[in-house]
Amino acid sequence: MDNFKTCAVCGKKAAFHSAYLKQEFCKKHFERMLMRRIRSNMVSNGMRGHVFHLLNENPCGFDLLDFLFVEKSGSKKIDLSSHTLEDFAIAVMKYFLFHEESKIRIRGKDRFSPLFNVSEDEIFSFFSLKNKSVAKNRRRGKDQSVIDFLSEIEKRRPGGMISLVKAGIELEII
Ligand SMILES: [Zn+2]
Repeated sequence: MDNFKTCAVCGKKAAFHSAYLKQEFCKKHFERMLMRRIRSNMVSNGMRGHVFHLLNENPCGFDLLDFLFVEKSGSKKIDLSSHTLEDFAIAVMKYFLFHEESKIRIRGKDRFSPLFNVSEDEIFSFFSLKNKSVAKNRRRGKDQSVIDFLSEIEKRRPGGMISLVKAGIELEII
């Protein structure tokens, strides 16, 4: 008996589990739902019709931005930050644990982080399904301890980091 998981959209063999949507997807629909989420982040934050400058704070996030967006010169230029779900989850957790103000924001003046709800796991899967290698973000010290802790929770309860980031948005921490 086949007991592999199937895509929530088409029923074919699933390639990836989305903690965000709590569903399995095949390669095609995984990519589609990831692109849709990023596009929806851009549209709901009024990023249409702008030209972009890509920032490389997080190497794997940068690789995805670089894959999706074309840098152009122009007047209404917006900086796109490469911070990921993990970066924002760490910032919110540090606010709660250590009373540290977040140094990163999802939206600032002339700046936006379209990957705030995209995990590094999803970025690695996106590129591995294309047989492309991607740079890993190296963390150290407190950030590494916090992400280790959050990853452990994520394993037990997928979607925990998303919930944390949503709480951070509601409380205007990030
Ligand atoms: Zn599918």
